[in-house]
Parts: sequence; C-alpha cells; structure tokens
Amino acid sequence: MLKLEDTYRHKGQRNALVKLLEKKGIKDANVLQAINTLPRHFFFDTALDSHAYEDKAFPIGEGQTISQPYTVAFQSELLEVKPGDKVLEIGTGSGYQAAILYLLGAEVHSIEYQKKLFDKTKKFLSKLGISVHFYFGDGSQGIPTQAPFDKIIVTAGAPIVPTSLLKQLKVGGILVIPVGDRKTQKMMKLIKKTEKKIIQEEHDNFAFVPLLGEEGWKSR
Ligand code: SAM
Repeated sequence: MLKLEDTYRHKGQRNALVKLLEKKGIKDANVLQAINTLPRHFFFDTALDSHAYEDKAFPIGEGQTISQPYTVAFQSELLEVKPGDKVLEIGTGSGYQAAILYLLGAEVHSIEYQKKLFDKTKKFLSKLGISVHFYFGDGSQGIPTQAPFDKIIVTAGAPIVPTSLLKQLKVGGILVIPVGDRKTQKMMKLIKKTEKKIIQEEHDNFAFVPLLGEEGWKSR
C-alpha cells in the first residue's frame, strides 16, 4: 500500500535532506527546491517508508533501485535543465528522477526496459498528476521517433557512450551518463558543440545497476 500523506515530519526530514545535499556540494537552487517539494516517501513501499529521506539508494523491486538523492541531485545539476527542455531519461525505475525533471519544467520522455516497473510507474505518476511521456523498451538506443532532445540523462551504468544517444542530441545539448564497468562508473557530461565536436567532462564515481540492451550490457 502506498502512503500519500505528506506530514510535517516528512517535510522536516526533506528539509534536512536538502541541507545535507547542499553540504555535499549541490548548488543549483532549482534542483534543491524540486527535491524539497517532491515527497520521496511516496515512491517507497510502506515497509521502507521511514528510510525515504536517508541519502541512500533503495530497492524498488525487479532487482532495481531508486537512486540515492545525491545522485539524482548531481545528475540533475549537470543536466542544466531549462523550462521547456525536451529531456529523455533512460531508466524510469520508480519515476522519482522523472518527477524531479518535470518539476524543473522539462517536457519529460522516459523509457524503461522492465515491463512490470514501466506499468507500475506509469500508473503511479499519473496518479500524482505528474505528466511524463512513458515508453517501454530498450533505451540504450534512445527513442529515434521522438528525437532530437535538448538533454539526455541515463540512470543506469553504461559500458560505453551509446552512439545513438549522441545522434539524438540537439547541437548545444547535454548528455549525462555514468560509464564504466558493472560495479563502478564515472559520471560523464557530454556537450554537443557542433554535429562533430563533443566536449567531455569526467566527474566522480558512482555505482548504478547496469544499462542493458543493444548499446548497453548484453546481460544483467
Ligand atoms: N531513474 C530511476 C529512479 O528515479 O528511480 C532509477 C533508475 S534504476 C537505478 C535503473 C533503471 O534502468 C532500472 O529501472 C532498469 O530496469 C532500467 N534500465 C536498464 N537498462 C535499460 C534500458 N536499456 N532501457 C531502459 N531502461 C533500462
């Protein structure tokens, strides 16, 4: 059963989480405000509800996780979302990151590879009144029919930067993607300056579940 009650206790815990994220180096006021607005405990099953405002990743079923708040904040900050940006998220999972992107004013397109999660999250976010375009399938190849995108965010660990994603990014667009082996990935920010010129920044290490699919890992 989902608890859809946002109490003073939850709000206080959320405030404390935002202060912690600031301490850890998150500066983007819009990102911090979105995290302060969105009840993360809504995305948890009752049994884990009390952990919702810890800065930790948690299981969401099907062997997948809701990302750590710091990771969501860090990726969202790197993405530099502007209101109206057409953003592709790969790895819908619980829908928490998609909801943050929506609160930042983006037109969100989110794709998930696991049917059960896709069905559950699609239903749940519409219940919350959060408008996201959902797709079921292999996001390692992007969504060619919806391209180009202003921004692309990958929330699973990739072995390489998929060429399809760079192709589907607008000139001036940003791709944020963790790239590495199955255990640890470096957070990469790629800025498409022209059709041929890509600027690449490397950030800290993170630990994501694997990006599966044609341009990801071939098995779990
Ligand atoms: N963004 C999510 C959230 O806010 O809860 C967390 C995502 S979880 C760390 C990674 C997700 O990527 C999983 O739900 C997994 O099923 C999904 N995934 C893995 N490979 C994928 C692919 N090729 N296309 C789409 N989704 C994929």
